[in-house]
Amino acid sequence: MNIPNSTKPRVVIIGGGFAGISLAKNLKNSPFQVILLDKNNYHTFQPLLYQVATGGLEPDAIAYPIRKIFQEYPDFYFRLADVKHINPEKNTLTTDVGTLIYDYLVIATGAETNFFGNKTIEQNSMTMKSVPQALNIRSLVLENFEQALLTTDLDEQKSLMNFVLVGGGPTGVELAGALAEMKKAILPKDYPDLDLSNMQINLIQSGDRILNTMTEKSSVDAEKFLKKLGVTIWKNIRVTGYDGKIITTNTDKIFDASTVIWTAGVKGSIIDGLTYNPKANRYNVNTFNQIEGFTNVFALGDVALMVSEKYPQGHPMMAQPALQQGSHLAKNLCNLNAKKPLEPFVYNDKGSMATVGRNKAVVDLPKHTFTGFWAWIVWMFVHLFSLIGFKNKIVVFVNWTYNYIKFDRAQRLIIRPFKKKQLEFFTFDEV
Ligand SMILES: Cc1cc2nc3c(=O)[nH]c(=O)nc-3n(C[C@H](O)[C@H](O)[C@H](O)COP(=O)(O)OP(=O)(O)OC[C@H]3O[C@@H](n4cnc5c(N)ncnc54)[C@H](O)[C@@H]3O)c2cc1C
Repeated sequence: MNIPNSTKPRVVIIGGGFAGISLAKNLKNSPFQVILLDKNNYHTFQPLLYQVATGGLEPDAIAYPIRKIFQEYPDFYFRLADVKHINPEKNTLTTDVGTLIYDYLVIATGAETNFFGNKTIEQNSMTMKSVPQALNIRSLVLENFEQALLTTDLDEQKSLMNFVLVGGGPTGVELAGALAEMKKAILPKDYPDLDLSNMQINLIQSGDRILNTMTEKSSVDAEKFLKKLGVTIWKNIRVTGYDGKIITTNTDKIFDASTVIWTAGVKGSIIDGLTYNPKANRYNVNTFNQIEGFTNVFALGDVALMVSEKYPQGHPMMAQPALQQGSHLAKNLCNLNAKKPLEPFVYNDKGSMATVGRNKAVVDLPKHTFTGFWAWIVWMFVHLFSLIGFKNKIVVFVNWTYNYIKFDRAQRLIIRPFKKKQLEFFTFDEV
């Protein structure tokens, strides 16, 4: 990989997400050579992917070049590499562009969509974990309306305009709200010859409340806001299959929809070579983020499962635990190098929030919950200030101001058309 040898111990970080970037930043001027590997050359601000998917923001506004973050960092190297295998016996890892030796290894590979083994859903539904996936949704939504204009078959038209979101967590809720706002303010102007009363937004949640990791008040208010926007919420229904047209559930209810967006599950992005917890698809780590059985291999963020009395299922798969673990591990790596005792990680829960469209959000702080307009203002500022890069902050702020004043979402572009791959079904006779 053409990385010079150094007299300093080498820390290799896999993943330039919230955790990896936080760790690498905190290792500036440390006694280590730092190597960051990521399969993308940019950091993705996932909380705003839904705005890219619904034409509210351009993709460049929520992605930031990793090299630019670390321009001034001494003895720091970034390589665009997809890590395929780890060999902890030899302290090496294999990537698609070569192999690398490490003294300390940190896995911060985040999470991927979990379809719970259901192949029909996996092959036919849309997911939203990356910028290209968000752009696929943006294209498909717009292509559906273009196609709906061309058909005289009312059932087909309704199916093209039926958007089913599976999973009532923050992503499903925020996406449902954004689609509902498009229906209200934008699509009638773009498609005056389409009867948009036929457009449906269905949000399906397997449990008995949406936003079930937030407080009861936030769940109830988010549901109220979504219903007011025209979103239909289905609770206590589990989706069992989707052939690209018909969604089946564990009840009699079926949906005829061309578009299903699956936000119902995530699992850790593990790498071949190390043992992991198969139930959570995350690495079991101790309070120092060391992976079970190792003193020089660590996991951070979504892919780390740190079980404690307060968090028996591990920390929530959110940005804050990833950021905090990253900066904490930087201190512990320095401690380890200086042969000082390690400090256990303690998560500082700053709360959680979700927006449900224009002027509406729900915010849970550790001791206080509030919803509505002021929650929305807080949501906006927290997200704006969390973005990496001054330019991105300005671009997002300008876009939001423009969208707010003009009731618009200017990025309604089909730049890279998305074609759905259909499942092929064979009868036993045909096979
Ligand atoms: C749509 C969406 C909305 C969200 N909204 C919120 C929110 O509002 N608030 C909140 O707190 N959290 C939110 N989250 C969750 C939050 O984004 C994650 O918890 C957070 O990104 C985890 O950070 P991480 O560093 O562990 O992983 P990530 O930020 O996902 O970073 C992982 C990195 O690893 C790289 N990588 C993965 N595998 C490999 C490999 N084999 N080789 C090389 N590189 C690899 C990836 O390219 C990526 O850059 C949201 C997530 C999504 C998907």
